[in-house]
Amino acid sequence: MKKHSYIVIIGGGLAGLTSAIDLIQQGIEVTLIEKEEYPKHKVCGEYISNEVLPYLKQLNLNICDLKPINITNFQISTSSGNLVKSELPLGGFGVSRHSLDNFLWEEAKRLGVKLIIDQVTDVFYEEDTFGITTGTHGTFTSDFVIGAYGKRSGLDRTLKRGFSNKKSPWLAVKAHYKARIQEDTVALHNFKGGYCGISKVEDEKVNVCYMVNYDSFKRFKNIEKFQEEVMYKNPNLKQFFENATMTFEKPITISQINFEYKKPVVNHIFMCGDAAGLIHPLCGNGMAMAIQSGQIVSKLISKYYHGMEKSRDELELMYAKAWKKQFGLRLKTGRVLQGILLNPILQNITYGIAKVFPWLTPLVISKTHGRPLV
Ligand SMILES: Cc1cc2nc3c(=O)[nH]c(=O)nc-3n(C[C@H](O)[C@H](O)[C@H](O)COP(=O)(O)OP(=O)(O)OC[C@H]3O[C@@H](n4cnc5c(N)ncnc54)[C@H](O)[C@@H]3O)c2cc1C
Repeated sequence: MKKHSYIVIIGGGLAGLTSAIDLIQQGIEVTLIEKEEYPKHKVCGEYISNEVLPYLKQLNLNICDLKPINITNFQISTSSGNLVKSELPLGGFGVSRHSLDNFLWEEAKRLGVKLIIDQVTDVFYEEDTFGITTGTHGTFTSDFVIGAYGKRSGLDRTLKRGFSNKKSPWLAVKAHYKARIQEDTVALHNFKGGYCGISKVEDEKVNVCYMVNYDSFKRFKNIEKFQEEVMYKNPNLKQFFENATMTFEKPITISQINFEYKKPVVNHIFMCGDAAGLIHPLCGNGMAMAIQSGQIVSKLISKYYHGMEKSRDELELMYAKAWKKQFGLRLKTGRVLQGILLNPILQNITYGIAKVFPWLTPLVISKTHGRPLV
């Protein structure tokens, strides 16, 4: 197997796969290394903002094939169940990661991206060339590396990224259910120590995904007990769980979800998606950001490839600048919102304000989202 590629992408989630598809469509050779087989379920709220649609269309990715659910409304409830409803300024759609990531994977394969199933264990940069070491496929070399390996990976430690040794109290739980809910609505229900997103995805499935602080969780023996003892205190969640049937054998979970500040360029690697920064999930914008960061990096690398940009250093500066401009404010707003929502007093004050000034909710939502990507 030829081991040199112009670009190596580490990680085949949304950021990695969209940038691979974009680059190969521009005639640039790409190898993508993903550690797990597709299709697979991922812990995610599975609500994706419509801002990605023009870009996906430009890439000839027909998301309609996946039969996504059109979502136009939003509701949020306090831990005690008080509900605020709002329209979503731009709207979005519900589609499972099981379908979406697999669809992009198959599309990348069809277009000729070299797809390798393996774990990247190290990346080094010497004399203007990268070496990318894998578990079983040996070492690849490339001119550029895109790090699209998600929110946390052993690679962060290898690359000595500051946050990689820090513990995080956040864990998340996700499962699909059979249940009757309002199809056009994504709901965010608060409970002590966390919040739970509920929305519909394709094939009549309802996705439930919640994030919770470990301190709130650890006193309970299992997920069911936690749901009953803590989450059921919000009557909206009680009503949902009591009338829903889980279709997974058991929920899937992740822990150590880290929201620390990260750098978008590390050791000359362009970090994309969650590897460059994770927005608080309550904003429902992480997937769009992953796709958009893939778009930004592909555009820049393509310009360089076609001789329109001068040097690697300039390219790195331009990427870091563009990343900050597009996502800096969204990440900050997400942090502030999470702080408010997890504080019971602030949560109730905010509820009171949102009831009196209903136009405020869509305004706040728009601060955590971007414009349509063209
Ligand atoms: C609880 C929760 C709920 C969320 N809900 C929503 C939501 O409703 N809407 C929304 O827009 N966003 C949501 N998000 C955010 C969204 O899931 C992420 O922002 C998005 O998945 C980021 O995509 P990515 O491509 O960067 O990473 P990922 O999708 O995580 O992909 C990274 C890939 O890299 C692979 N990988 C990792 N390490 C290696 C390695 N060493 N070698 C090879 N491969 C590797 C992994 O297997 C994985 O497939 C949520 C996040 C959480 C935690």
